[in-house]
Amino acid sequence: MVIGWRPLHEQDSKQQISLGIETTADDFGVGLVGFDGEILSNVFDVFVPEKGGIHPREAARHHAKVAQKVISRAFDEAGKTLKDVSIISFSQGPGLGPCLRTGATAARALAAYLKIPLVGVNHCVAHIEIGKLATDAQDPVTLYVSGGNTIVSAFDAGRYRVFGETLDIAIGNCLDVFARRAGLRREPSLPLGALVEKLAKQGKELIELPYSVKGMDLSFSGLLTATERILETGKFSVEDLCFSLQEVAFSMLAEITERALAHTEKREILLTGGVAANERLQEMLAVIAQDHDSRFCVVPKQYALDNGAMIAWTGILAYLQGLITPIEKSMVRLKWRLDDVEASWVR
Ligand code: AMP
Ligand code: MG
Repeated sequence: MVIGWRPLHEQDSKQQISLGIETTADDFGVGLVGFDGEILSNVFDVFVPEKGGIHPREAARHHAKVAQKVISRAFDEAGKTLKDVSIISFSQGPGLGPCLRTGATAARALAAYLKIPLVGVNHCVAHIEIGKLATDAQDPVTLYVSGGNTIVSAFDAGRYRVFGETLDIAIGNCLDVFARRAGLRREPSLPLGALVEKLAKQGKELIELPYSVKGMDLSFSGLLTATERILETGKFSVEDLCFSLQEVAFSMLAEITERALAHTEKREILLTGGVAANERLQEMLAVIAQDHDSRFCVVPKQYALDNGAMIAWTGILAYLQGLITPIEKSMVRLKWRLDDVEASWVR
């Protein structure tokens, strides 16, 4: 028996709400979502390092510092209070240990204080579920592209299966590292990938770069090194390099997505994750969808980056199946794979 769970019809008639906390990496995100799928608020505060990439402990310190402020903002925007919440959902993994632990601590404290169920959510599943909620995709092949993950997935026999993935770094990481090497500086409202996209629009010349698809998997580290080396020669403009990097990397993503679509014979492509905001990538996938008589769905920009709403929503889906996470089983799971999750709520 699952403690703390009651079938929906036995619960109060007032709207049930899930509070979601997302802290897998640089974002501290909080979302409040109604059990009917209405997103009541979705706010975040991002850790921007002085220089270099994300240092997990520094990011975790940032999360601990802003937690109370961001949670309060989520309630203010939704016009709700703590007592309106029915469940606490949190990103249990995969992600950076110190960051995940900060979010999990906040989630456990809130659930214990309010005496309500806690639901640990897989971050990758959440990116898919928010994409489905926002676009009404039913059974898509999903390309999930972000700072930490690059996965082509589709649902089959109870789980989101991984059809292809990166063998080394994620596409978002590849773009971010190149951007930093090229001297670009991010701002909270403008991620490095978005800066690369902006410059790529002014690029004209396609520079030859290594294209690395291995079966259904991808490798971006050789592509990154080659692009960095060419940058150092000073022979090509940063605009042309951004353009060429995008063209090659996104063609690789498009190739394996197209193969997964052809193999599974699904009728929808869903693009989700932080890099989904990229218009050139959207354009390439839209063409593939059209070629295969499929619908192209892209997650709206406000739910593309890591966010609390996606955690809150996936927590609801799990909870309604009776899946809750007792405190003693709520330790974070740094390498929790998408295809380890039994997604019993998917029909
Ligand atoms: P996430 O890990 O889901 O929060 O996504 C963050 C990643 O998305 C970072 O690597 C960003 O650089 C990347 N990103 C955000 N906007 C864009 C964009 N317009 N084009 C490409 N990458 C982007
Ligand atoms: Mg992020």
